[in-house]
Amino acid sequence: MASLLLGAMLGAALDAWAVLLPVSCAGCGADDRALCLICRSALRPTLHRQQLVDGMSVVSAVSYEKVARRAILAFKEQGRTDVARPLAASFATAIASAVAGRVELVSIPASRDGFRRRGYDPVRFLLRRAHLPRPSPVLSASHERAHQKTLGRHERELNLAGSLAVTGQLAGRRFLLVDDVVTTGATLAEAARAVRDGGGEVIGAATLAFTPRYFGDS
Ligand SMILES: [Zn+2]
Repeated sequence: MASLLLGAMLGAALDAWAVLLPVSCAGCGADDRALCLICRSALRPTLHRQQLVDGMSVVSAVSYEKVARRAILAFKEQGRTDVARPLAASFATAIASAVAGRVELVSIPASRDGFRRRGYDPVRFLLRRAHLPRPSPVLSASHERAHQKTLGRHERELNLAGSLAVTGQLAGRRFLLVDDVVTTGATLAEAARAVRDGGGEVIGAATLAFTPRYFGDS
């Protein structure tokens, strides 16, 4: 009994140790810390510009597929904060290319569920790693959204409409929206709507990654 318990405790300790010191590349699984050199080079930004339905321009650093997708998922869903540095560098490149004049960054508030599960807000984490200014706390969730992942484009829009509210006085202030992955663009469009309703100006958006299959399909 005691040895069973000890075994379980040891297993849990080793799991925790593996999270602290991952021993496999988050991109390909090869024995390595964080990301191997090959996967690191696959995360180099190749800036992609896109106009959303509402005319807003979005700059993204990488395509959300293959190595980039695996690395971002590892960072967001498996606690692999050790891959934040290369992701943050690519994100910063997209942000730098989208910034024009004096702007404040604004990110989408993380859902309560997501924050509880991860213990960190992925976008804020990347901004901090990139030594970029903290996003201005101007958006808040006005109601808890259903999980977007399982929804199609139209359902995402319905689910999001009116889901964000602004706090504070936004008149005369310019904003760049920042997010980790743009899929249909519905989340960014809702954020832009909220900021504009609050009197702020939205100059565009920058994301770490874009989901290729959603673009050009309508
Ligand atoms: Zn690799």
